[in-house]
Amino acid sequence: MRREFVYEAVPARVVFGAGSLGRVPDELAALASRRVLVIAGGAATAYGDQLADALGGRVVARVDQVVPHVPEQLAADTVTLAGTAAADAVCCVGGGSATGLAKAVAVALGLPVVAVPTTYAGSEATSVYGVTRQGHKQTGADRRARVATVVYDPVLTTGLPARATAASGFNALAHAVAALAGGAFQPVARLYATAAVTTVARALPVAVREPGDLAARGDLLWAAWLAGSSLSGAGSGAAVHHRLCHVLGGRFGLVHADVHAGLLPHTVARDPALSAAGLDEVAQALGAASAAAGLQELAATVGLPRLELPAGGLPAAAAEVAGTVHSDHPHHGDAEWFRALLDHAQQGEW
Ligand code: NAD
Repeated sequence: MRREFVYEAVPARVVFGAGSLGRVPDELAALASRRVLVIAGGAATAYGDQLADALGGRVVARVDQVVPHVPEQLAADTVTLAGTAAADAVCCVGGGSATGLAKAVAVALGLPVVAVPTTYAGSEATSVYGVTRQGHKQTGADRRARVATVVYDPVLTTGLPARATAASGFNALAHAVAALAGGAFQPVARLYATAAVTTVARALPVAVREPGDLAARGDLLWAAWLAGSSLSGAGSGAAVHHRLCHVLGGRFGLVHADVHAGLLPHTVARDPALSAAGLDEVAQALGAASAAAGLQELAATVGLPRLELPAGGLPAAAAEVAGTVHSDHPHHGDAEWFRALLDHAQQGEW
């Protein structure tokens, strides 16, 4: 084994288990919080209500509007609300969009975050946060965006529809693939990433078939944490996948997990910035002949459709990715290559 590496863990307390939503009040108390901003919208609103009941007077503000990709205005309004209410902590229940909004508040005000994730996006395990300004999603890494305590309760995820479950599982896979094949050599992240891929490959078909299977749901949350942690530890180097997802998501307002799912087998098949050795590890973890073949097969098993992109904006999107992808990427500046990659993904050509 090579012995030179740098590993920076994202320190967090992780509370895991069915029914652990009920432990959130104690976890907030452990952070000495008395004035909580609760963020929970969409499908998670009912869990936000449950939490607010349990917290009683400790809730000083609530946000039930959660919008994908954290629009700048929503972030600014939520920061103002938290400041005006003198919140001393933020608790978010929901997918990556709720976590992203909590992170925006944490970065602006330095408040601790307790996150209760309900998808497999894995944002709770990284220092990365993003805000969308006029269709451009800008991401950054900041220690203040780190979640202090993550509470994983598989019960909250049994209502995630089959299609969203499948796509979100691929979001976790995308993190692990990036950590194994895109980033710097990182033995700790590698352990996390291979375990994440193996676990998703086993549990995702079960959860899609049987949404109420708590064991499979728990496995997927566990894999989401491993995958997010692996990406956080290794980064994605010059690989294009995450950059593409952010540009397409920001420009077209697409469902983030769907973009990951639709693109991953294609970026894995075609991105020259991914290392062959890393992709072999992905293939092994999937139990497949190649990483791309294993991902294609898993996508078919869990019923993921082809990626659909709005035709009109593709040339501009390809140009944006070409211009903003890592400068070490062999196709940096080559909009035609990115356009061809997107065409292949849309047409489902391997
Ligand atoms: P999301 O949070 O937008 O949720 C997608 C949909 O699923 C929403 O309609 C939501 O209400 C619903 N939903 C969520 N949990 C549910 C549940 N348990 N049951 C039923 N419905 C449920 O999507 P996402 O894919 O979780 O997160 C995407 C966002 O997270 C993007 O903005 C992405 O950029 C960000 N993200 C950030 C990081 C990071 O490291 N910073 C990592 C991954 C994703």
